Amino acid sequence: NVVMEKIIGRKSLQLRNKQQEWQESPDGQKMNEFRRSLPAYKERDALLKVISENQVVIVSGETGCGKTTQLPQYILESEIEAARGAACSIICTQPRRISAMAVSERVAAERGEKLGESVGYKVRLEGIKGRDTRLLFCTTGVLLRRLLVDRSLNGVTHVIVDEIHERGMNEDFLLIVLRDLLPRRPELRLILMSATLNAELFSSYFGGAPTLHIPGFTYPVRAHFLEDILEITGYRLTPYNQIDDYGQDKVWKMQKQTQAFRKRKSQIASAVEDALEAANFRGYRLRTQESLSCWNPDSIGFNLIEHVLCHIVKKERPGAVLVFMTGWDDINSLKDQLASHPILGDSSKVLLLACHGSMASSEQRLIFDKPEDGVRKIVLATNMAETSITINDVVFVVDCGKAKETSYDALNNTPCLIPSWISKAAARQRRGRAGRVQPGECYHLYPRCVYDAFADYQPPELLRTPLQSLCLQIKSLQLGSISEFLSRALQPPEPLSVQNAVEYLKVIGALDENENLTVLGRHLSILPVEPKLGKMLILGAIFNCLGPVMTVVAGLSVRDPFLMPFDKKDLAESAKAQFSARDYSDHLALVRAYDGWKDAERQQSGYEYCWQNFLSAQTMKAIDSLRKQFFCLLKDTGLIDLKTEDCNMWSHDEHLIRAVICAGLFPGICSVVNKEKSIALKTMEDGQVLLYSNSVNAGVPKIPYPWLVFNEKVKVNSVFLRDSTGVSDSVLLLFGGNLSRGGLDGHLKMLGGYLEFFMKPALGNTYLSLRRELEELIQK
Ligand code: ADP
Ligand code: MG
Repeated sequence: NVVMEKIIGRKSLQLRNKQQEWQESPDGQKMNEFRRSLPAYKERDALLKVISENQVVIVSGETGCGKTTQLPQYILESEIEAARGAACSIICTQPRRISAMAVSERVAAERGEKLGESVGYKVRLEGIKGRDTRLLFCTTGVLLRRLLVDRSLNGVTHVIVDEIHERGMNEDFLLIVLRDLLPRRPELRLILMSATLNAELFSSYFGGAPTLHIPGFTYPVRAHFLEDILEITGYRLTPYNQIDDYGQDKVWKMQKQTQAFRKRKSQIASAVEDALEAANFRGYRLRTQESLSCWNPDSIGFNLIEHVLCHIVKKERPGAVLVFMTGWDDINSLKDQLASHPILGDSSKVLLLACHGSMASSEQRLIFDKPEDGVRKIVLATNMAETSITINDVVFVVDCGKAKETSYDALNNTPCLIPSWISKAAARQRRGRAGRVQPGECYHLYPRCVYDAFADYQPPELLRTPLQSLCLQIKSLQLGSISEFLSRALQPPEPLSVQNAVEYLKVIGALDENENLTVLGRHLSILPVEPKLGKMLILGAIFNCLGPVMTVVAGLSVRDPFLMPFDKKDLAESAKAQFSARDYSDHLALVRAYDGWKDAERQQSGYEYCWQNFLSAQTMKAIDSLRKQFFCLLKDTGLIDLKTEDCNMWSHDEHLIRAVICAGLFPGICSVVNKEKSIALKTMEDGQVLLYSNSVNAGVPKIPYPWLVFNEKVKVNSVFLRDSTGVSDSVLLLFGGNLSRGGLDGHLKMLGGYLEFFMKPALGNTYLSLRRELEELIQK
């Protein structure tokens, strides 16, 4: 111990010398000058003091004030100055991998170091971290996985949880775990960082922990709501008596009849009309699309946006424009529309850019660059630009007031992705983005009364997503009863959502009837994928068809590598169809595409291959590296025979792979009824469902399988299946469900329930004979 202390002492002194050297160097001084200009610097001493005196501290401040890059650094620097550098270990979590990587790089640069010295990062598939790394930026998921093996976070001195205002599921979960841990680790420090001001909520959750606010330096931003915008820009309104001339209006009237439409409208519609009346637009009204967009989160008034942008370009002072849209689709359509506009489409005057989570990082960089003089930068973005990305030169913000949010319909056990109104907090955040460098203007494309009807904050993710992975984690961390544990959350989820998740885990065999983790469950909790995909991997290993199964699982847990560009949709769809060779499976198509890419890659022509076949090379590489990681993890479970050929002995057997896919994706299953001119698909929970048009099973005249298994269904207006694979009756009978649940009888009873539900009497015979065979087999 004495020796250890000596080593730590010596290392700490080295760290201190190195830090001093950098701070005295010319580059270091320049960097420090910048760092001192950030608002957080004024609070440095106060921050360090309150942290040393309290176990839990909440820090809030405007985006860009220096929370993420500075605060962890202040702690590190002060520990190093106090010659405790080698004894401290600071972990700072980020909700997104991209920010963990970018921030660590920035902090290392600010310290005049390379990544992996005192600063490092760790995200799911990669990380740079050295033996002397004292400040680690990681995703929240990575810290949760560390808690699996190291329940009291031994050796960690500070945990910083960033962006808690987003109320992500992992962050809310982590807070329950950490709150329980604090009494057992009195010297551990916990710092929560948040952009907007709901700090009181967190403070009371941690028994009245002190909060410290960093005053920002943003300039005032003037908010214009629709009433004002119509005046300022002179948007052309339509007289009431001409309304019927618009074909669109007829559609609107028809839509008006449907019940859902009426319900949504009733919430705010009359208020909108009143507001326009009150704003003195007597006898006139908005054109349909624009009016619709004021109270219907599904539609966006492109013409109004175009009009506002035109107004800014022609009449307003210089400065970049940031337009908040809901997703890739409408960003693309708007970009197309603007590109053909005489002023906005003129590239000598306007630089039109899109900003979206799945775009390449080289493309993202363009967003931060300053355009040439006289050129106006217009960035069309999703809500990603609210907090995670800061574009410094923005002076004008255009806010459509909507965002595509995931939600979860617990009654039907279906995740949904539907555009909805944002919260007041999000609208304020969007507005604030205009005041970074000078006073700004924000155009909210909805009346003030609509804003007034917004919720204060968006509901936390824990209340709007399926909870299966989370429940599995609770069990594997041995945190006791799932529902009891979750009742201690900041805002506990609905009991029905918890019940659905537990039932699901029982169906797939991860939990037994008493909610205890099974052996399968324990394996699943180690694999960094959803439980059902983990199960598929394990079966792939057991049945020696691991290669293709790893490809399927990697593809499903990264993203779809098949690109579907708007303007070349038909070409792209037929390129994908080539991979399916009439086997009615998106998953097998992916396997073929990957194998083809791998061959091409060996001959250095991976890129050409991707280009020709509408595949994303980046995604292919991600799939490749995930596969490698799966292989290592599965090797550790002892399920893989080390002779690699063995685990691929049956990889050519398409029937077996189909069966393993079915075993993994069950109960994600729908029945297929081929009708004369169409195909009817039904799931037990939703009734009629549809296929996304880029599935190989969409638009085929006939599907020669009675069932489709799928990984993902999403409720948009109808329920859509993203991906699917056809399976036969016998495969479903043998591989669907979980033989260990209630024994063979229980298994057959459950499947029997499915068969009855879908009214397939002809299946009775297959069912009975299989049942007999199975019983005999089990008796042997
Ligand atoms: P917060 O977490 O409070 O939103 P950050 O610590 O992320 O703020 O950023 C503080 C400031 O540091 C930003 O306003 C920006 O000017 C600067 N900054 C952050 N990241 C980078 C980077 N990668 N390159 C240059 N400047 C950066
Ligand atoms: Mg931050």
